[in-house]
Formats: sequence, structure tokens, C-alpha cells
Amino acid sequence: MQSTPRKISRILVLGGGSAGLIAAHTLKRKLPQVEVEVLRSKEIGIIGVGEGTTAAFPRHFFEYLKMNPQDFYKEAEPTWKLGIRFLWGPEEFFYTFSREYSQRWPEMSRNVGFYVDRQTRGAGITSACMARDKAFPRKPDGSPHLHNNHAFHIENVKLVAWLEKACMREKVKITDGTMASAEAAGGEITALHLEDGRRVTADLYIDASGFRSELLGRALGTPYVDYSKSLFCDRAVIAGWPRTHEPIKPYTIAETMNAGWCWQIEHENWINRGYVYSSAFISDEEALSEFRSKNPKIANEPRVVKFRSGRYRDHWTGNVVGVGNSVGFVEPLEATALQLIVVESSTLADTLVDSLCEPPPSLIKLYNKYNSGAWDDIRDFLAVHYAFNTRLDTPFWRACRADTDLAGATQVVDFYKENGPSVVAADSMLHPSNSFGIEGYIVMLLGQQVPHAKPHVPTPQEAKIWSGRLAAFDSHAVAGASVEDTLKWIRQPNANWA
Ligand SMILES: Cc1cc2nc3c(=O)[nH]c(=O)nc-3n(C[C@H](O)[C@H](O)[C@H](O)COP(=O)(O)OP(=O)(O)OC[C@H]3O[C@@H](n4cnc5c(N)ncnc54)[C@H](O)[C@@H]3O)c2cc1C
Repeated sequence: MQSTPRKISRILVLGGGSAGLIAAHTLKRKLPQVEVEVLRSKEIGIIGVGEGTTAAFPRHFFEYLKMNPQDFYKEAEPTWKLGIRFLWGPEEFFYTFSREYSQRWPEMSRNVGFYVDRQTRGAGITSACMARDKAFPRKPDGSPHLHNNHAFHIENVKLVAWLEKACMREKVKITDGTMASAEAAGGEITALHLEDGRRVTADLYIDASGFRSELLGRALGTPYVDYSKSLFCDRAVIAGWPRTHEPIKPYTIAETMNAGWCWQIEHENWINRGYVYSSAFISDEEALSEFRSKNPKIANEPRVVKFRSGRYRDHWTGNVVGVGNSVGFVEPLEATALQLIVVESSTLADTLVDSLCEPPPSLIKLYNKYNSGAWDDIRDFLAVHYAFNTRLDTPFWRACRADTDLAGATQVVDFYKENGPSVVAADSMLHPSNSFGIEGYIVMLLGQQVPHAKPHVPTPQEAKIWSGRLAAFDSHAVAGASVEDTLKWIRQPNANWA
């Protein structure tokens, strides 16, 4: 049911995990006149996982919200992530946040993807840096060339601590308390009842209660859109070990496993591993044993997290807007949860700003279309990772190759099979807000060596330009700054980089 326009002057955010705090902080920074309160339960706590971001994260905080990156680096202690190194398909390859395969170098007749061969892992300075374990190229003065076209690895607990301080600086009220029940009437929430007897009300409720989805799912019974035809995994086992002499890699690793895949995320002092698997193909015990044998250094007790893939249909239902795990979940194969949270938070803030805090049904309808589209785009893109990965021949991967529903990715995959890595008419297949774009699809399809009908044979002159450029990227990367060099550099007392 759509809400009728009403003036929103008080917002209550249920949940103090990264979703609740990002939403509260964004709303208060963009709408200082609105009262924003976060209600969070210390007893229930936060999920405590979610360690990789996409490039949408620095853009949200440092460009959209104009926050000071120095505070963030000091308090959240992130490291830089340039992309994902996929141990996937016949050979390994890099997925970056840059445009490498969809651009055309002026001297060449086709876009870069057409020159990629079986040995190519990337074709730009970002993938060259990844191949050399370098975070940034250097400027002529030798300092790292920092930019915002990267993502981060951040420990969830440190991120939440930084967000809490940022919220307090903006005068967001943070209250401890556990909601026992929600009062609802006419498809809207009328009040929340806390376990200690308090009753709280607001004009708009943000449901950021994580997998519990207290308001959107439980209280309002919003219909659920299931993604299990495209994404078969439903569990993860997570553990890690303290870093000793291992260099800090500027990327996440995504490694094919017997019944799913394993991430490796790089924190300054901790290496985090997680095996995402399908319980229909492997038991928890077998998954744990495969995980341990791949990661003999594991130092803490592995933790199993269960999840289901999908989303609630209308993220804005009545006077409730969901953000984060409370609106849905997809596995972190492209580490997109924090990206969705910042997109949901900024879209909500912009909706309220533009509607003078009285959003009409037409805007709410578009909000829902835009945000559910962003979720479905991720399902579609992840489906391509499963449908074409030929690295292992286990029952799980055979089922993925045979049965994965490509859903909205079907058109772009069919186009690729007929036309190769062409970018012609890409905008008519993928809408401009698709965060992976044609670049992402080309990287995944070429990376997994999915055959296509239009291979291009480079001319001798093109072959020379190709190898010369790759060599130039490589020598630039060799001279680049590692994560350790860059951390040292930003921590100098007088470094002027912000
Ligand atoms: C295995 C796994 C790996 C992941 N990896 C990544 C990744 O690499 N990158 C990424 O971006 N994301 C990742 N995620 C997603 C990540 O969990 C989310 O991005 C993020 O942490 C958002 O969590 P949240 O705030 O929605 O939920 P939570 O952290 O669970 O917070 C929920 C909040 O609601 C409160 N709450 C709940 N019920 C009540 C109640 N009744 N009363 C009061 N308060 C209540 C809780 O106390 C808590 O404060 C991963 C998730 C999983 C499961």
C-alpha cells in the first residue's frame, strides 16, 4: 500500500549496524532540520561481517557527503581494494573498478576486449597494479597517486565504530533498546514497543534490523522475491588468521571451491577468509573440512552464517523504508551490500530533499522501481559468474552450468555470444544505473573464456601496439606504491593528501 504524502520531521532508524548508521548519517547530513534517531539493541548486536566494498563507498562518503577522508582512514583503518582476482574459469583474471575492456584505444580498430587472449588478466593500469600487488601508481614526485576509483577492505566492527562517531557529530540520537513488537494499522507502522516498556513513534521508520527485517518483513508482511533459481548458495563459513609476513594484497580473491567459492579479504593485521556454499550440495562439516584444508593458518573458531538470497518486493512500504540486510541479501561475490546501502540511503535522502519531506506516491513508486532494479541487476550479474565457471567439475558446478537462471542477464549474454565483446548498443541492453555496466559483463564473460562468434585477429601493427601498451602499464605498476607504502605515506604527520 502506498503512503499518502505527509510532512516528515522525525525519522526513527531501527538498527545500528552499518545499514542503520549509514542511512541515519546520510539523512541527517542532507536534512539537518529533520530529527533522526537510531534505536539499536546491544543484546541482538550486529552481524559483524561485510568487509569489502565497491567504488560506490568512497564516492558516497567523500564526494556525495563531502566527509574528511583523513578521519575515516584514522578511525576505520581500511586498506585499498582495486578489484577482485578471480580464480575462476580456465585461467585467473582481474575484475577492476576501472573501464579497461570496454574502451577503445585511439590507434586500434576495436574496443580493448577484442584483443584479449587466454593469457590476458587485464588491460589497464589498475589490473597491472593488481598483478604487481601495488595499490596506486606514483606521481612524478614519488607519492602515491590517490583517487576515489577504488574500494576498501574494512573490518565491519571498525566501520560501525567510525559510523557511530560520525552520526554523533551530526547530532543523530543513538538510543539503546530492543523492540519487542510493532503496532501496525492500515499497512503502516503506528508505534514501536520496546522491551523496557517505552513506546516510540516517528513519521518515517527505516528498517535496518538486518536479517530479522522486523518492520518490512515481520510487521508489514511485504512480499518476498526469491533469487534461489539464479543463486544456489545459502551458507558461509568465516574465519581468518593474523597477518605475519604476507604482503597486503590490493584486491579481494574469489576462489572456486567444490560447492561454492571462497573470499580472501585483506586487512592490515588480519586475513579474512569465507567459504560461501550451497547446503544442498555439501554439509557444514564437509564445507568446514574443505575450508580448513585450503586455509591451514586459520586461527579463530570458524563461524557459520545462514542466509537466503532475495529481496522484499517494495523497499518503501507504507511509512517504512528498508535498508541493508533487512530488505534482502545476495552473497558477497561482488561485495555489493554496502554499495546497495549507500545507494538506498542517498536515494532516500534525495527523495526527501526534492519532495520537501512530503514524498508523493509517484516518487515512492519510482524509489521502489529504482532500488529493486539495483538488487535485480546484482542477481543477474552474479548469475553469469555461476553459469559459465568451468574451473571444477563437481556436482555443484555441473548444476550451476546446467540450471542457473540468467534472469535479466540473458539478453547481454546472448548478444555477447553472437557479437563478442562489442560495446555497440550496450546502453540499450543495460540501463545507465547498472553498476557493472557492459565493462563488468565483458570482463566476466571473457575472463571465463565463454566462446563467441566474432573473434578479431589483430593486424601486426595492432599486435605491436597491444604488447607495447601492456608492457608500459606493467612498468608503471612495477614502480607503483604497495598498500604498505601508501599506509606509511598517509600516516606521515605532514602528508597533504586529503
Ligand atoms: C557471509 C557474509 C559476508 C558478507 N560480506 C560482505 C562484504 O564483503 N561486503 C559487503 O558490502 N557486505 C557484506 N555482507 C553484508 C553485510 O552484512 C552488510 O553489508 C552490512 O553489515 C549491513 O548489515 P545490517 O546493518 O543490515 O545488519 P546488522 O549488522 O545485522 O544490524 C542490524 C541492527 O538491527 C538491530 N536490531 C535488530 N532487531 C532489533 C530489535 N528488535 N530491536 C532493536 N534493534 C534491533 C541490531 O541490534 C543491529 O544493530 C556480508 C554478509 C554476510 C552474511
